[in-house]
Amino acid sequence: MFNLIIFGPPGSGKGTQSIKIAEKYGLIHISTGDIFRNEIRNKTEIGLKVKSITEKGELVPDELLIEILKSVMDKHKETKGFVFDGFPRTIVQAEDLDNLMKEEKSSISLVIALDVHEDELVTRLLNRAKETGRKDDTEEVIQNRLKVYHKQTKPLIEFYEKQNKFELVHGVGSIEDIFNELCEVIDS
Ligand code: AMP
Repeated sequence: MFNLIIFGPPGSGKGTQSIKIAEKYGLIHISTGDIFRNEIRNKTEIGLKVKSITEKGELVPDELLIEILKSVMDKHKETKGFVFDGFPRTIVQAEDLDNLMKEEKSSISLVIALDVHEDELVTRLLNRAKETGRKDDTEEVIQNRLKVYHKQTKPLIEFYEKQNKFELVHGVGSIEDIFNELCEVIDS
């Protein structure tokens, strides 16, 4: 199996690139943010639980993440691999994911981070707010999401560097150029 994590702060283009990668390499795309937005839209039990958390830009509790991941992965036992987008976001989630992978006799193959300057992130997220009306794309929540990223998610860089799985790609430029760079890293 080939299991890839597309890593980066909010607004770095993880979603856009993950979809393209999943399509090109025949992998299953898992976006935990999309899963939560869907649950909220459908007013499910999970949706009701996470609505106010996501609207504040805070992280959903780790226990809930691994449960959801397990059920999605169970549905795709025959896949060639997964592209994880927006997951893991904490060290606990990364450890849970490693354990889950081990149970499937698999592992994380590669983590690629999209490197984008903070000013550019805020500009992109504010633009996206106009297009999609995402409730967590307001200036105040954006600042909190970036703070949460630095505090809780960024430590994962060291976690994966230690495992020699971490690669960085410059995330500014055209979607196609960034995609080509990602493919080069994946193919090498
Ligand atoms: P995203 O679309 O990836 O930016 O996710 C939107 C929101 O969903 C985040 O701000 C969190 O509130 C929640 N979320 C998504 N993925 C995770 C995760 N791996 N751990 C905790 N919360 C998450």
